[in-house]
Amino acid sequence: MTPTLGSPTLLRGATLIDGSGSAPLPDSAVLIEGERIAWAGPAAAASVPPNSVEIDVTGLTIMPGLIDCHDHMAHTGFDLMQRAAAPMSLTMMRIADNLRVTLEAGITTVRDAGGLDIGFKLAVEESLIPGPRLVLGLSILSRTGGIADPRMRSGAVLDFMELPGLPSPVRDGVDECRQGVREVIHAGADWVKCASTGGVSSPTLGPLDAALTYDELATIADEAHMLNKRVFVHAYGGQGLVDAVAAGIDCIEHGAYLCRHPESIERMADEGFWLVPTYMVIALHAERGSPWAQRKARDMQDDHRRTLEVALTAGIPIAMGTDAGGYGHGHNAVELQHLVENGMTPMQAIVASTSDAARLLEMDADIGTLEPGKFADVLLIDGNPLEDIAILDQQDQLRMVMKGGSVYVDRLQPQATRIPSLH
Ligand SMILES: [Zn+2]
Repeated sequence: MTPTLGSPTLLRGATLIDGSGSAPLPDSAVLIEGERIAWAGPAAAASVPPNSVEIDVTGLTIMPGLIDCHDHMAHTGFDLMQRAAAPMSLTMMRIADNLRVTLEAGITTVRDAGGLDIGFKLAVEESLIPGPRLVLGLSILSRTGGIADPRMRSGAVLDFMELPGLPSPVRDGVDECRQGVREVIHAGADWVKCASTGGVSSPTLGPLDAALTYDELATIADEAHMLNKRVFVHAYGGQGLVDAVAAGIDCIEHGAYLCRHPESIERMADEGFWLVPTYMVIALHAERGSPWAQRKARDMQDDHRRTLEVALTAGIPIAMGTDAGGYGHGHNAVELQHLVENGMTPMQAIVASTSDAARLLEMDADIGTLEPGKFADVLLIDGNPLEDIAILDQQDQLRMVMKGGSVYVDRLQPQATRIPSLH
């Protein structure tokens, strides 16, 4: 269903930003054979196999597809009436559309931080629907009254939002937490997701309220690690964040108030625990959220900015995540603007969204840079994102999106320019 490039194909003439953090290489060439990159380097040094096709992409930037380490592909807006009224089949079609839109925006890999079940991952892998490579968290393990509890204070139960392949997220006490880890892994989780603080969008527990105990967190980490899975935790600040780090949770999501916890910063840097700061969703909550979400989001923005500064200084590894799917899909690259506004260089933001994100996901042998042997997850962009990071979200300037050597967006010049190579 998806056009593949003639194979092998040489993309010649673009400026290469390979995702490693190396300086951009003008007048580059990238050779793609089948699903993978066969060669990348200066165009003058390219040797081209017989029967290859050459595409002149002079004037464009070529870079790896972006990796969003925190999104929710199954979220389709905060309008509960609309979601409650939708038959499950319609909900699933909307989710399939979210996947397509996200891929077409240049996001070639997504770690889903809760809500998507394994059927969608299998459907993408079988090429039944277009979508990013998927790394799944499935259910968000949290307490009664925590961020994933579908029971409202009113007595209403919002379980209509749950896909059938998801284990129950509500877990109280160490035994239920251990069982929860076993259930999500059995249901296909690649990572175990939990929530150790309240949140911004929830009306009850706040971002500084602890929502899992140290013992519960240590049990989740222990059980996941025993099965060679890693854990990512929704944690904004306060004791829930401190305990998550002390319990050996591998990756902190949001972490807005991390700057207030020097001992946690030190431990994260020492152990190589990751931070995925998700500025985009906080900005959207502050602008368009419920009255309480707007207040909580605005309250944390100064600390959140400071957190990136101290994390960079401490050497905590950082990967890009948006968490923004509830507000719509396909603008994930806006997170790179926020990373730059909060203190990263454009190159640091690109590395956090490519090679570092791939390292977090332990997929760096296959994705994250444009190097021989890796999947051809490739973007061609009209413009230089190092000069203007915002162009990554300007989709008319996104001229090609390729995932695994298959082309999902093609806004290059007409076929006539695709000359068979004379080499
Ligand atoms: Zn999230």
